[in-house]
Amino acid sequence: MNGWVDFMLFTYLSVPTNQFKIMKKAVLSGLALLLSLGAFAQKTYIHAGRMIDVKSKKILTEQTIVVEGDKILSVSSGYQKGGQGDSVIDLKDATVMPGLMDMHVHIESQTSPTRYMDGFRDNEADVAFKSLPYAKVTLMAGFTTVRDLGGSGVNIALRNAINNGLVAGPRIYTAGKSIAPTGGHADPTNGVRRDLMGDPGPDQGVINGPYDARKAVRQAVKFGSDVIKVTATGGVLSVARDGSAPQFQQDELDAVVETAKDFGIHVAAHAHGDEGMKRAVKAGIHSIEHGTMMSQETMEMMKKAGTWYVPTVTAGMSAAEYAKIPGYYPPVVRDKAMQIGAQIQETFRKAYESGVKIAFGTDAGVFPHGENYREFLYLTEVGMPNLEAIQAATLNAAQLLGVEEKLGTIESGKLADIIAVSGNPEKDIKVMKDVIFVMKDGKIFKQ
Ligand SMILES: [Zn+2]
Repeated sequence: MNGWVDFMLFTYLSVPTNQFKIMKKAVLSGLALLLSLGAFAQKTYIHAGRMIDVKSKKILTEQTIVVEGDKILSVSSGYQKGGQGDSVIDLKDATVMPGLMDMHVHIESQTSPTRYMDGFRDNEADVAFKSLPYAKVTLMAGFTTVRDLGGSGVNIALRNAINNGLVAGPRIYTAGKSIAPTGGHADPTNGVRRDLMGDPGPDQGVINGPYDARKAVRQAVKFGSDVIKVTATGGVLSVARDGSAPQFQQDELDAVVETAKDFGIHVAAHAHGDEGMKRAVKAGIHSIEHGTMMSQETMEMMKKAGTWYVPTVTAGMSAAEYAKIPGYYPPVVRDKAMQIGAQIQETFRKAYESGVKIAFGTDAGVFPHGENYREFLYLTEVGMPNLEAIQAATLNAAQLLGVEEKLGTIESGKLADIIAVSGNPEKDIKVMKDVIFVMKDGKIFKQ
């Protein structure tokens, strides 16, 4: 509208009276047309041959979803006809479901044998430009919402750019930069030459003690993080010897969670080893990521506390695969990837059977973005029913984020995040790879 105001002011200041009258008339009739379009906003009628009701884990047939603006107006049985000016999307041969939600990605980066050197070459702007295709391919794969659990902070700018419609990508809930102790999994200077190492502190997400912990959380919120990520144990891909030992003292984790709670935001904990997981759950962590060596005792603690588990089986599988390629990872990383990688699927199976709350997450970035669907194959391979895996990537994920009022299901009043695959995922989960339709916030990105 600013353009209109400028135009009208310009017109008023620079045009002779009789011409001004004609132009005023044109401008006013233009405005009237805009208003009338607004009053009879076009609706979109989606005819869904199959539609997954993720709450009941059932497939409904021959449904019509009516979308107006960015919201779902109604869902009803049968193929309803729209009025004049409304558009119809024919998905009678497809399976329609809510936009998928991946609760663990790293949207700024992607695995590559040059990844460790790139850290020395790329400026923030380079990271930003490189992240654009990652965001786009994620959205096109049907993932309309992601939780980014750690990057440089470009992920915050990317979230804003997507929200402002500047670039195409999923809705991002981001941790900004992860928090770790000195030498921990998310200390950005691990393995770096001593004179370049410096001494990163809370502003860079590196803490020692509860005071630093509070500062780091507050700083992250100030930078624009939606969620806090801590690395509760060592990790596979950092240039550090240990991949599973606990990294924080209890008082440090307690301080992170308490401070985050004051801001009303959640804390996610990366964890491979069991002791670090236990400390995280004791501190009141919202979700355990990876959970590789999770004991039965920890599973019981998580059930009692209501802690979410985000398995990221795909990350473990891909890291173990890349480790076999000579020179792909530095030797210290390769050894950890071989050991830790493939264990996650078995842990997921046990946790699922124990009744731990599961939300879908892949760790995309550790493997190419857009291949997030692979997690569906790994989850169902060891016993999770196909539609329950889709529930984990929609309803459960929305609950984990605390946004189930507006996302996660196809119901009237919710945001119109709707996707479709050709084929029937209840019969063959592999069709999750073939996303043929993507709508986010009522806008069509793929058809
Ligand atoms: Zn991760």
